[in-house]
Amino acid sequence: MKYYAKPLNRLIGELSKLPGIGGKTAQRLAFYILSLEDQEVEKLTGAITEAKAKMRYCSICGNLTDEDPCRICTDHSRDKSVICVVESPKDVAAMEKIREYKGLYHVLHGAISPMEGIGPEDINLKSLIKRLQGNDDVKEIILATNPNIEGEATAMYIARLINPSGIKVTRIAHGIPVGGDLEYTDEITLLKAMEGRKPLG
Ligand SMILES: [Zn+2]
Repeated sequence: MKYYAKPLNRLIGELSKLPGIGGKTAQRLAFYILSLEDQEVEKLTGAITEAKAKMRYCSICGNLTDEDPCRICTDHSRDKSVICVVESPKDVAAMEKIREYKGLYHVLHGAISPMEGIGPEDINLKSLIKRLQGNDDVKEIILATNPNIEGEATAMYIARLINPSGIKVTRIAHGIPVGGDLEYTDEITLLKAMEGRKPLG
């Protein structure tokens, strides 16, 4: 894209680094941004800067939050006897949308993938084990990792790790298409998957 002046090229370049944004879309977005009023552009850049500055990971569950511990971890009305283990903060949002689940979460920030060289120590798993040590409140761990090879391997690994402790370990039921992502699953399917969960290990 040498046809444009440097500042525009720079904007297109930065936008095209975003996931799912190809060169053409980056160009379209850049033109759109240039067409905005200054005030609107400030709102956009301000939102990016504020989100980046204020959002962090909850020191207990690993979810994205602007308060540490997060609002779910500190909510006394939530059921502290159940922890639902998910791969990403987007999965927490998907689960919260169905409004049926009232327990706590643990966000792994990934899944075990030997193919990609991602081992148990590369995901947020140690903190889950730490969380369970000396904690008599937790009675069930629901493994809600994605129903693909990595998600299943991760669920099996965690089940083996936790089973000796005597805490009940369950895996969400299928119905979520194999190879699918939790975050793209419709609410009814996700609700059914939660209801139909089975002991693992
Ligand atoms: Zn939390």
